[in-house]
Amino acid sequence: MTTREYMLGNVAIARGLLEGGVQVAAGYPGTPSSEIIDTLASREDQDYYIEWSVNEKVAMEVAVGAAWAGVRSVVTMKHVGLNVAADPFMTLAYAGTKGGLIVIVADDPSCHSSQNEQDTRRYAQFALVPCFDPSTPQEAKDMLPYAFEFSEKFKIPVIFRPTTRISHGKSDIELGEIPTDKPAPYFEKLLDRWVMLPKNARIRHTHLLSIQQPIEDALAESPWNSLELKPDANFGVISAGIASVYAKEALQELGIEASFLKIGTYPVPKKLVLELLETVNAVLVFEELEPVVEEQVKMIAQEAGLPIPIMGKTGGFVPREGELDISTFLEALKKVFDLDVEPESGKVSLELAPRPPALCAGCSHRATFYSMRKVFGKDAVYPSDIGCYTLGIQSGTVETTLCMGSSISIASGLYHAGEKRPICCSIGDSTFFHTGMNSLLNAVFNKANITVTILDNRITAMTGHQPNPGVGFTVTGEPTVEVSLAELCRAMGAGSVVVVNPYNLEETQEAFKAAKDFEGTSVVIAKQPCVISVKRAGIRRVPYIVDPEKCEGCKQCVKFGCPAIEFDEENNCAVITALCSGCGVCAQICKFEAIREVKK
Ligand code: SF4
Ligand code: SF4
Repeated sequence: MTTREYMLGNVAIARGLLEGGVQVAAGYPGTPSSEIIDTLASREDQDYYIEWSVNEKVAMEVAVGAAWAGVRSVVTMKHVGLNVAADPFMTLAYAGTKGGLIVIVADDPSCHSSQNEQDTRRYAQFALVPCFDPSTPQEAKDMLPYAFEFSEKFKIPVIFRPTTRISHGKSDIELGEIPTDKPAPYFEKLLDRWVMLPKNARIRHTHLLSIQQPIEDALAESPWNSLELKPDANFGVISAGIASVYAKEALQELGIEASFLKIGTYPVPKKLVLELLETVNAVLVFEELEPVVEEQVKMIAQEAGLPIPIMGKTGGFVPREGELDISTFLEALKKVFDLDVEPESGKVSLELAPRPPALCAGCSHRATFYSMRKVFGKDAVYPSDIGCYTLGIQSGTVETTLCMGSSISIASGLYHAGEKRPICCSIGDSTFFHTGMNSLLNAVFNKANITVTILDNRITAMTGHQPNPGVGFTVTGEPTVEVSLAELCRAMGAGSVVVVNPYNLEETQEAFKAAKDFEGTSVVIAKQPCVISVKRAGIRRVPYIVDPEKCEGCKQCVKFGCPAIEFDEENNCAVITALCSGCGVCAQICKFEAIREVKK
């Protein structure tokens, strides 16, 4: 009897890794990939090692070490994380692997929680590494044991690339067996493989090129690519990943007969593409993000001397940005055939009230930004970074966000360019450990006269509360060293390092004043646990209320921006709602002492 379970795509992916016999898993949290490591870490029957690493490059290298010892390993990250890990990844393709090594990189079409829409399939092409592109959570789970075997067969790392809809979609999943027999690790000293001296690298590059055709041939035969030739159809559709599900559904809905090639692996299976091209008069390529398949199909058609129209992103049939869905496929068909179809027919329209993202009620970042702005003023320059605190943009203290760890280096660049205004940047604790540390070291070394604010909320909050080296426990909850941010900053040479409680506005503003006056790189660490962690720990702070007798209706508390504070226009009075988490900051802002704890 088969066992089925209704689960999240990322939980299905974790299950696929277990069914593939994973022995070491490392990653850095990043939406939409985070739940894979979280799921593996939450299992009680762990016969594998698991960690949240400090960044994606480190995670990749941990997984490589394990794979070179001959065990199956995985590294997880979101798409932009591969930029951080690109250095080991590109050379790893040359060195190859011994144990199966899967690099899971979750792409985010439409930038739901990301700063760009880069397509990881380009990295696979760039590194000459095979890539698996699942179209459903079930397929994602089933692909992973296959991907481990494939990686071991060709001794090459493989990319596994789910997108947001695969990672965060839910479906009924048929489960397989989890193996219990796993190989013992043994590191073979293969110097020509693991030491990339130029002499070895040249040989390995030639080897990598030589296995491309066998890899392509093997993948073409895999169950992840499927070709359906319809004898009476002179039109073909080539689609990949989740877009193939939309395309299939739309064709069925319209009753259009088309030959269909579904691609789930890269390099693109030329053999199957050619088979399709030889039987149709025109092809529509439907894929999310970059025209990776489309470019390959055009090349194959040209090489084979088949001058048939190949439509896709080129020519504007399919959008190059954002997520695709059934309606985008219908739109594409409409353009191809000049059809009279209703493109919205497959869409369910839900009227949701607009809800702009905001920092939580009682979030310490809001208090830190408030004090920062009070001291540095509107003329200062405020580079920032990637985390919950990016939502502080409404407080006027987030003026740049480029990539993880960039705030301090951008602040340094601004200073060295000759910017005369004060520069105060902000970065979260996890982001600081990720890649901010190098930037602080560089700022101190090169004498940047800037203030660095570390927003230390004692967790990696944005991606689901994963631990980092500053919190004192590992992914499995095991106690470990709690790295002191203050000592770390001092050890890197920062001349002024102060730790404050951001809920205490006076203390924080004094610290910012001293940091502003300091000649050189100063650090203010605003330390206060995330309000969600506090609630989860069962701590209930006393909420605050407004005394209507004392309220003058000045709205200073409302301007602070806490979602728990509303304004009653009729009675010209502020009101604190049940959202209040008792941080007490608004009470310090009110000059009329109209805000107090509920019990007083
Ligand atoms: S005390 Fe004031 S600022 Fe803090 S959560 Fe409550 S209403 Fe918001
Ligand atoms: S700051 Fe004080 S006086 Fe002003 S609106 Fe808020 S509660 Fe009322």
